[in-house]
Amino acid sequence: MTSDVADVIVVGAGNAAFCAALAAREQGASVLVLEAAPEDESGGNSRFTAGSIRVVYNGIDDIRALVPDLTDEGVATTDFGTYTQDQFFDDMARVTQDRADPDLVELLVTRSFDTLKWMTTKGIRLIPIYGRQAFKIDGKFKFWGGLTVEAVGGGPGLVQMLTDAALKNGIKIRYDSRAVELIYENGRVNGVRIRHDDGLDELRARSVILACGGFEANAEMRTRYLGAGWDLAKVRGSRWNAGDGIRMALEIGASPAGNWSGCHAVQWERNAPEFGDLAVGDQFQKHSYPFSIMINANGRRFVDEGADFRNYTYAKYGRVVLEQPLAGKLDGVNAGEFVKTVAEWNKAVRADIPFNPNIKDGRRTEGLAINKSNWANTLDAPPYEAYAVTCGVTFTFGGVRITADGEVLNTDYRPIRGLYAAGELVGGLFYFNYPGGTGLMAGSVFGRIAGNRAGSTGRN
Ligand SMILES: Cc1cc2nc3c(=O)[nH]c(=O)nc-3n(C[C@H](O)[C@H](O)[C@H](O)COP(=O)(O)OP(=O)(O)OC[C@H]3O[C@@H](n4cnc5c(N)ncnc54)[C@H](O)[C@@H]3O)c2cc1C
Repeated sequence: MTSDVADVIVVGAGNAAFCAALAAREQGASVLVLEAAPEDESGGNSRFTAGSIRVVYNGIDDIRALVPDLTDEGVATTDFGTYTQDQFFDDMARVTQDRADPDLVELLVTRSFDTLKWMTTKGIRLIPIYGRQAFKIDGKFKFWGGLTVEAVGGGPGLVQMLTDAALKNGIKIRYDSRAVELIYENGRVNGVRIRHDDGLDELRARSVILACGGFEANAEMRTRYLGAGWDLAKVRGSRWNAGDGIRMALEIGASPAGNWSGCHAVQWERNAPEFGDLAVGDQFQKHSYPFSIMINANGRRFVDEGADFRNYTYAKYGRVVLEQPLAGKLDGVNAGEFVKTVAEWNKAVRADIPFNPNIKDGRRTEGLAINKSNWANTLDAPPYEAYAVTCGVTFTFGGVRITADGEVLNTDYRPIRGLYAAGELVGGLFYFNYPGGTGLMAGSVFGRIAGNRAGSTGRN
């Protein structure tokens, strides 16, 4: 069956997709959102998030613009500091070891505030991330990691607010509709083919925006691109992101870009299920390591747990965990070595330096094979708590190459007419590591860019 369904088809129903759909609609285009999952599992990884969004702000006035119901008392008891464009540029350069595509980073950083403000006009409500991103010391909260606001209701709240905004603006959403192929005729994309129980349907449109995630939920692609052992990683989020968007685009000649062997991966509850569970959300994460030590099955430490604030290390330590003699063996940690490690540890802690979780306090160890740079505390007074972890993959870094207008480029570096991309499946932004809260911001910025362009050029 073939039908012309809309000016713009958006593939996916996560944050990037809805931002793209809302922007295209704003340009006057009719928009259809296609979601592979049934409605009760929809929303992709965006729904699994804490809803934390990294955004540039130059002080309290910018925070007030994003969080209009911030109280005077909240302002008086909080040091929000700043997160300037320079800080965001520096963070992207540092954590990606200067590999991130400068044009994409420029857009991400310079459009972040404006884009998030735009989202608030669509009905997205934000609050400060007290507790997880700011510790209260001497009666005052201080934000420390460049990550200051989150969506009300976290990821589920964000997806609900985006869905409501889409429906309010006349955007149609079709669930249980997995796009499997692009309709590519005479050098342009004219729609998609979706799979259902009886075969394929053709849905035609002037433009298609791919916003259907990376290949993190596809064990075969993970092993092929990330390497041996990655089939064993637990998937933190949606089981619906199987790399379809990337595959469909490559099939018609799209240029691959970015860190195809890289991904965002964290320490994750060892007995977590194969894929994320919406009832548990992000609660399998084990992010207290900056204030503790990590031990492998040999009873040895293997990483500087306090190298930086958690936001700047967590996304790369999942890979390190995957490389350890850990999975399946934690019950049998080498007890003798473990006790020796802790004894050496306790002697090495510079306990004369005060502990302060709001700053890189320099309370370090000295003389160990692997020292800890900050927040080192002795382990000499019970009760002790330990968590068995494995590697949890969040999303993959490799994807398709886009222009500054969100158009997908082919391998001759020319735009594929009618094809746009946003979100996880765009390559070139993240290499090796990632500053927390950037995934949602990137989806919003590039979703809006792609939607604006597709909506203004793709009307019937
Ligand atoms: C547990 C967890 C916590 C996280 N916390 C944060 C956080 O607090 N802040 C942050 O910035 N980032 C966070 N991230 C990363 C963040 O989720 C992603 O960077 C971001 O949500 C990606 O948005 P997206 O729209 O590109 O993809 P998604 O939100 O994953 O959306 C992709 C959509 O495409 C659909 N889809 C897939 N294939 C098809 C197909 N063939 N046809 C139709 N539809 C398809 C999926 O069902 C889904 O709806 C977290 C991730 C996880 C897993």
